[in-house]
Amino acid sequence: MGAGVAGLAAAQALLLQGASVSIVERGALGMESSWAGGGILAPLCPWDYAGEVTRLTGLGAAMYPQWVAGLHAATGIDSEYEVSGMLVLPPFDRKLARQWCDEHGLMLADKDGGLLLPEVAQVRNPRLIQALRKHVEILGGRIVEQCEVRGIEVRGGRVQAVTTSGGEFSADRYIVSAGAWSKQVLGQYALKLDIKPMRGQMLLFKFDTPPLPHIVLQDGMYLIPRRDGHLLVGSTLEDVGFDKRTTTEARDSLQQRAERLLPALHNMPLVQHWSGLRPASPGNIPTIGRHPQLENLYLNSGHFRYGVTMAPASAAILLNELYGVEQPFDVSVYRAGWSA
Ligand SMILES: Cc1cc2nc3c(=O)[nH]c(=O)nc-3n(C[C@H](O)[C@H](O)[C@H](O)COP(=O)(O)OP(=O)(O)OC[C@H]3O[C@@H](n4cnc5c(N)ncnc54)[C@H](O)[C@@H]3O)c2cc1C
Repeated sequence: MGAGVAGLAAAQALLLQGASVSIVERGALGMESSWAGGGILAPLCPWDYAGEVTRLTGLGAAMYPQWVAGLHAATGIDSEYEVSGMLVLPPFDRKLARQWCDEHGLMLADKDGGLLLPEVAQVRNPRLIQALRKHVEILGGRIVEQCEVRGIEVRGGRVQAVTTSGGEFSADRYIVSAGAWSKQVLGQYALKLDIKPMRGQMLLFKFDTPPLPHIVLQDGMYLIPRRDGHLLVGSTLEDVGFDKRTTTEARDSLQQRAERLLPALHNMPLVQHWSGLRPASPGNIPTIGRHPQLENLYLNSGHFRYGVTMAPASAAILLNELYGVEQPFDVSVYRAGWSA
């Protein structure tokens, strides 16, 4: 339920295991947070996050090269995975950053007064979504768009069916991957789950060739150069509920801050300005796994700022649980969200 990167990655992994999968999506596939994101495949300042976050982003980032290569081979769609590196500019805790990178075996180098993390990669998330869609279809998955889940029917400790705007659907197992709307989809079965929307606004510019050699990050704001000269500038972090409007304040502030880092942006026409609703969770720790009371209901949501990075790892962890396979590390923390 929900066809963002979390739902699609899980569907693809299940199909590859031979399961039969239907995805029910309220709107058009992949057009919410997963489309709106920047596609940086790492936390912005990884040293600011708990191990529960960086273990998952680390596993996800490590899986990406093979994942996107497989998608490319199967679909012909290039997700534009690129190890472009990320330059982190002050202010940040340099000592902590060095120590963290040392401990986690991450390369880093001094550059332009900041620290360059040369191994950080990016992906063009709208392309990744297209590739996932095509692969799910090739593998025989059924995608039902414009179909809103409206209720979950439970009997005897099991989900019997879900009711949707397009009728009733039933299956052996159900996975909720409805991003910022996951709590709404679960309704009374959300228990203590704390997932809420957190708006992020982005700007898009176009140069003839990439204006920067790396992703550049300063104080929560980043510039992401794409291969074809597009430059993304993001993002805001706004607690405004399910309000997806863009604002002139955010546009002006992002543009001014970006211009200070890249003067060539001055007078550059804005190609697009959009926003997306991230599925925000406490500590950026997603909830992945079985519902504590309903044996055939699962959640894969709450990836907040790093859902694109975490997608393949999160799907793998979910599948390990579904099939009773040993996990790569202790994943009990990703079940804690139900009872937080
Ligand atoms: C501005 C911005 C920048 C970001 N940058 C990055 C980044 O650089 N790197 C990174 O890793 N992550 C980034 N993210 C975060 C990332 O985009 C999200 O964590 C991720 O996309 C979440 O995926 P999802 O599938 O859970 O949610 P979504 O993509 O929002 O998908 C949920 C889907 O569920 C559907 N749905 C909702 N309700 C129902 C219902 N009742 N019935 C059926 N379907 C329903 C929705 O229509 C939607 O398609 C960014 C996000 C934003 C907004």
